[in-house]
Amino acid sequence: MHCSKCAKQAVFQDPTLCKQHFFSYFEKKVKDTIKQFSLLKKSDNVVVAVSGGKDSLTVLYLLQKFGYDVTALAIDEGIENYRDNTLEDMKKFCNEHNIVFKIVAFKKETGKTLDQVPIEGSRCTYCGTIRRTLLNKYAKGFDKIATGHNADDESQAVLMNFFKAQTSLLHRAGPISEKKKGFVQKIKPLYFCTEKEIMAFSFLKGIQTNFVECPYAHFSYRGLVRDILNKETSAAKRKQQLLKSSIAIAHHLEQKETASFLCIKCKSPTKNEQVCKACSLAEEQV
Ligand code: SF4
Repeated sequence: MHCSKCAKQAVFQDPTLCKQHFFSYFEKKVKDTIKQFSLLKKSDNVVVAVSGGKDSLTVLYLLQKFGYDVTALAIDEGIENYRDNTLEDMKKFCNEHNIVFKIVAFKKETGKTLDQVPIEGSRCTYCGTIRRTLLNKYAKGFDKIATGHNADDESQAVLMNFFKAQTSLLHRAGPISEKKKGFVQKIKPLYFCTEKEIMAFSFLKGIQTNFVECPYAHFSYRGLVRDILNKETSAAKRKQQLLKSSIAIAHHLEQKETASFLCIKCKSPTKNEQVCKACSLAEEQV
């Protein structure tokens, strides 16, 4: 099959493009998101939350390529035979691209690795809460936190919020978080890029990743929602529609999340508790 823009062999379908035209298409999509939603200023100092997967390394690669000042930050949850491998990928990538790489470990911050926490079934709620808190804590001093969330992740999140009747979270939709006191603003430059596009881009660019999934991922509710969404015959189109609808809804919702207190233990912002959610979860596991 030939590229829809030239006579060369296509390497990607939907849209059908050769390697060079696919790179241009993909990079333009990310640049357009940055511009349309005012994700970054040229002077911004950005910390990229890296997991070693294709998404976060693609964000890191592109933001550096676009000329932003980037630092990579990884959270080491302490998941044996998984995080240790991905940390190696990240180190190698950052060395090759001359990017400062920092690691923050659950073990050092909470006293336990994720593997050592005695939770039955899904560990994702615990893991996600601690990770978000540590990310914000160690992103202090940066202008933005960039993450590798893509169109698949985000459309799953929207559906999960509906399925769980968490309507108060719907205002979070969109590629940039609201400005909140005590929180570094988060941006998602790959918000409209599908997993398939990112996989193709990272592969064709030679961005090497382990392609391993976290061993706890199959316990998660997200996995179920992902399967439901992917069964749709026109899944790619539906995901984009879901994202656009959720952004439109978010604009009409009143922002109810406020953080007016500082946690007495870690000094992170909390809504109205003395101890933040991450510290109370960590305490429960002692
Ligand atoms: Fe943490 Fe769950 Fe993600 Fe694994 S799948 S890294 S446990 S949030």
